[in-house]
Amino acid sequence: MRGGNTPTTHLGTRAVWGGEDEYLLQGATQVPVVHSVGYGYDDLDEWHEVALGTRPGHIYGRNTNPTVHVFEEKVRILEGAQAATSFSTGMAAISNTLFTLLRPGDRVVSLVDTYGGTNKIFSEFLPNFGIHASLCPTTNHAWIIREVQQGAKILYLESPTNPTLKIVDLRQLADAAHAAGALVIVDNTFATPINQQPLALGADLVIHSATKFLGGHADALGGVVCGNADLVQQIYHYREINGATLHPMSAYLLLRGMKTLHLRVRQQSASALKIASMLANHPAIDQVFYPGLPDHENHAIAKKQMRDFGGVLSFSLKGGFDAVRLLLPRLHYAHLAANLGAVETTAGPPRTTSHVELTAEERAALGIPESLVRYSVGIEDAADLIADLHQGLERVTHELSIRS
Ligand SMILES: *Cc1c(COP(=O)(O)O)cnc(C)c1O
Repeated sequence: MRGGNTPTTHLGTRAVWGGEDEYLLQGATQVPVVHSVGYGYDDLDEWHEVALGTRPGHIYGRNTNPTVHVFEEKVRILEGAQAATSFSTGMAAISNTLFTLLRPGDRVVSLVDTYGGTNKIFSEFLPNFGIHASLCPTTNHAWIIREVQQGAKILYLESPTNPTLKIVDLRQLADAAHAAGALVIVDNTFATPINQQPLALGADLVIHSATKFLGGHADALGGVVCGNADLVQQIYHYREINGATLHPMSAYLLLRGMKTLHLRVRQQSASALKIASMLANHPAIDQVFYPGLPDHENHAIAKKQMRDFGGVLSFSLKGGFDAVRLLLPRLHYAHLAANLGAVETTAGPPRTTSHVELTAEERAALGIPESLVRYSVGIEDAADLIADLHQGLERVTHELSIRS
């Protein structure tokens, strides 16, 4: 058997080989894209056993699919999870998980800085079912722990957060939540399993928008949940009935992207640190948000729980949104786009990307300046990205000084 999940294997090797062996057909070195919706059985007893789940196999494409299964296995192996199940998007993974586990009257504790869509589930959709979400100031650990101790079904966390790269102590919060009888769910999209493994820090479930770093090429949407096998089984059951299934072609694209996950994330993290350090000393910049910088509010926690600090940073410009308008169109090596985690650098303001769902007032309340730019570092040479930012910022400084 080639590949497989031996505990001694390093993450890079798991990213390449993990989960594939069962589905390499007739000597093929690559996993096939199986587009079949149905799976035929000559033996009615065998069919029945597969349908009951007592024998491995596939029945119908909404439930399971070979290509999709390999994608789930690769994520499971990378996160060190008991089980994994996948979804059509990251938001489907998040909503299906919450709607599987929550009941009317339950309480969720989370952070004000969760991903914009997640925030909307807490504020707009869960209340329809009598489920209250208490959203805490993100880096106030004492506040979060106090809320959890008042009773909660779920503690839902993200670290680093979007777009201001805040860090919470996953081990400390998971221990406190478990002591209070709550489940711990972590959205690990920004860190990826290469930089952070929340299950090893005490989380019960890890969620990814695979659309971002896991796929890495901005050409397929997908989501995944992994962790405790019993919980994943319940979430899988919700998804097989409610139907937010990952498409086999998307699963293939995500799977292929994941083979280079360790290379990409290593390069993106190294470049992001260089870029953040450059920006921190640039006169046109107001503030830089990157957990790898020694003066980041929770750098010490980041250092403790992450191998490296990831490929996303953000910065605010002196000169407000006018400066953002001047800078962004001048960048040669950044798509001005809402996605992140791709091989190409992307940049954009939160008001058109991560926090488009919020009003300007709501963004201000979250401490997101209107002059903020989120910058997702691609795999280009860092020197070219730095030169690109330099020329863009020089023009901004020049034009703003002419006007004033
Ligand atoms: C993009 C994103 C999501 C949502 O994922 P989709 O694939 O766009 O549905 C959730 N969480 C985080 C942190 C994200 O960046």
